[in-house]
Amino acid sequence: MGTEVKELLLERDEPPGSLNWNSWRWQLRNAVRNAETLEKIIPLNSEQKQSLSKVIAKYPLAITPYYLSLIDRNNPQDAVRMQCVPSAEEMKLYFEMHDDPLGEEDDSVLPGLIHRYPDRVLLVLTNMCPVYCRHCTRKRQWCKGNWISRPKELENTYRYIEMHTEIRDVILSGGDPLILSTAMLEGVLSRLRQIRHVEIVRIGTRCPVVLPQRIDAELVAMLKKYRPLWVNTHFNHPNEITKESARAADMMLCAGLALNNQSVLLKGINDSVEIMTRLCQRLLGIGVRPYYLFQCDPVSGTAHFRTSVEKGIEIIRAMRGFTSGLCVPTFVVDGLKGQGKVPLAPNYLVSKEDNYMLLEGYEGKRFKYYNPED
Ligand SMILES: *Cc1c(COP(=O)(O)O)cnc(C)c1O
Ligand code: SF4
Repeated sequence: MGTEVKELLLERDEPPGSLNWNSWRWQLRNAVRNAETLEKIIPLNSEQKQSLSKVIAKYPLAITPYYLSLIDRNNPQDAVRMQCVPSAEEMKLYFEMHDDPLGEEDDSVLPGLIHRYPDRVLLVLTNMCPVYCRHCTRKRQWCKGNWISRPKELENTYRYIEMHTEIRDVILSGGDPLILSTAMLEGVLSRLRQIRHVEIVRIGTRCPVVLPQRIDAELVAMLKKYRPLWVNTHFNHPNEITKESARAADMMLCAGLALNNQSVLLKGINDSVEIMTRLCQRLLGIGVRPYYLFQCDPVSGTAHFRTSVEKGIEIIRAMRGFTSGLCVPTFVVDGLKGQGKVPLAPNYLVSKEDNYMLLEGYEGKRFKYYNPED
């Protein structure tokens, strides 16, 4: 397998666009999962080479040939590379960082079922992903060996959701749920659809970004039957918007699925007004609405990706008003220990007095605004 990937990327025996390249199963089978293969494809300095095996032993490696092909091999700071190539920084321990800072394990009512908010649940069907993002909030789960929910566990999940009639939104998350076979996914969706009070189902997936080949005619024909379905994806950088990802998005749009994006604010990758604006504009261009921009959680092994919280607010301030409102995501910090998402926005309300407010426009000019009483 190793040499195949090497040939692929260096000698183009299997050029992008060929039959095999376009098969998602081939992409998964040929994902780079060990240090030796990665070293042959991506130039690493001796320090990086030395730490690679150790990092991978703690936080496994997986990169699809497609995602690898987006990397500029000559740029150590490449935005795609930094998201998927392990770094020695992941081994550093910090007092403020935890394996599970959001308290997901505590909010799990069953294995893989997180019920934190009143009317929605998050259902983790597997811990596997086509690419392991180095900034992943759930990287604690990678070392537990690959797993997929068993039928018996799923039955318990369905029973829980059936009993809790307040649940009107089920979010399939991961791991990446689209790594499952179309048949298994259909089993889950059809079963959830039988529950009267489940109004919508969402699928959180990074496949459109890292394995767009997964979005094929068979999959979208199946998904189409279970609308309303909301697909949340995870683009972080404009370089991830390619012909292939645009095609994947278009196929889902044509099947009547709604597409939203959740980005993570990542130091040195997308923490600038210019890059974030370009990303969000291009997302709209392929029919994907920017939904959330997340502050990177204090998860062990991700400290080097974290920016200040102010950075996110600053980026939103520089976007709002200056470009299409549809482009502007909500910046959120996920609260520790199950406190939930906290939206943080620039403050445009300067002061209040009697029946007047002093507001600040997007260009920074202040003006008085008459504020009627209720
Ligand atoms: C983010 C999240 C949700 C969904 O939140 P929305 O704001 O509705 O998108 C649901 N459950 C958990 C545990 C979450 O982390
Ligand atoms: S696709 Fe999502 S769940 Fe999977 S590694 Fe990346 S961030 Fe984590």
